[in-house]
Amino acid sequence: MKSDLRIGIAGGGLLGRLCAWRLSLQGHHISLFEASSLERPAGACWTAAGMISPLSEVVATEREVYDMGLQSLAIWPRWIAELEASQGRNMHYRQAGSVVVAHPLDEAELRQFHQDLRSKLGDSSDVELLDASGIQRLEPDLADHFQQGLYLKSEADINNRRLLGALLDELRKNGANLHENCKVQSCEPFRICHAQGTDEFDLVIDTRGLGAKDVFPGLRGVRGEVLIVATDEIKLNRPVRMMHPRYKLYAVPKPNGQIVIGATEIESEDMSPISLQSCMELSSALYALNPAFAEARIVETSVNCRPALMDNLPCVENSPGLLHANGLHRHGYLLSPVVVSDVLSKINQLNQNVA
Ligand SMILES: Cc1cc2nc3c(=O)[nH]c(=O)nc-3n(C[C@H](O)[C@H](O)[C@H](O)COP(=O)(O)OP(=O)(O)OC[C@H]3O[C@@H](n4cnc5c(N)ncnc54)[C@H](O)[C@@H]3O)c2cc1C
Repeated sequence: MKSDLRIGIAGGGLLGRLCAWRLSLQGHHISLFEASSLERPAGACWTAAGMISPLSEVVATEREVYDMGLQSLAIWPRWIAELEASQGRNMHYRQAGSVVVAHPLDEAELRQFHQDLRSKLGDSSDVELLDASGIQRLEPDLADHFQQGLYLKSEADINNRRLLGALLDELRKNGANLHENCKVQSCEPFRICHAQGTDEFDLVIDTRGLGAKDVFPGLRGVRGEVLIVATDEIKLNRPVRMMHPRYKLYAVPKPNGQIVIGATEIESEDMSPISLQSCMELSSALYALNPAFAEARIVETSVNCRPALMDNLPCVENSPGLLHANGLHRHGYLLSPVVVSDVLSKINQLNQNVA
């Protein structure tokens, strides 16, 4: 089997860099083309909260997202260990579960969420009902305000921006050809046409996310807005979701006292800055989580569009010389290890057929 293919990858977001990293470790020669900066990619990967939450997500989506999410939860620790060993630093991958809470007035929402979870998964040992003492044990800073919740034990999260930076470092170390601010005009079998010319490869992988509309007519963007706040007043130990009849808020703690608050989900490809309404709703939901958040500082707002197909499920399509992977929607960090493994096994099959 050939292990030194020349592979061109269009799109240096989450899928593009993970594919590039894994393939470079196999000895292939990688060229990666990114339309924006590689240090701060323009894709959804940069805006995302980095939750790896199969249980929370299964309530509103297909069961296969949960099944694939569990497979990802088995792959991430291995990949993270490899990255940490090579980088000599912590990736802030945390498998400490997540907590779902609701104010007494919104307890019906919490009950409904639990019921939906049970109807999808049956009685799972991964789900624990929390009373006030359970909340005190897991999230002491929420204990004064919530008496009921759920603990979704197996869920994880990752410092996504650190991961993206680490993957870039690894690609540099492994000798990949990195082309930033280089927009790909078309991905063709064995060929990438880009702003600076045309390059030939043994294989082209298209991971342009929303930039691949020429290939996937049904591809659409789903706008998501987040706030990043900083506070010393409140400490969260894991992602927290708050049930509410109008908006579903999550708060994901990051290093340095920062917390990502998200996210809206709007059927629109508008990439303009966060609206006042979304900012108010996210802020007031956060304030409802704990009034001490009133003193938090908003350090960043971020908007992006999730690349989604009609069924909101990921898709890997391959043909000789060209492979497309897309449609991660709101599940990029949740599902990318499985999607990337699928891409790799399709390439290995192709390779074996050629050999
Ligand atoms: C607000 C928000 C919160 C989210 N939170 C989570 C979460 O907590 N957990 C989770 O699992 N997922 C989350 N997601 C979803 C996740 O971010 C996406 O599923 C994931 O980033 C998709 O990965 P991708 O590589 O396919 O696309 P992207 O990350 O969008 O990357 C595509 C890349 O291709 C580049 N590109 C586009 N066109 C071209 C071109 N013509 N030439 C060259 N390069 C091009 C783009 O600049 C971009 O860098 C969230 C998304 C948003 C918006």
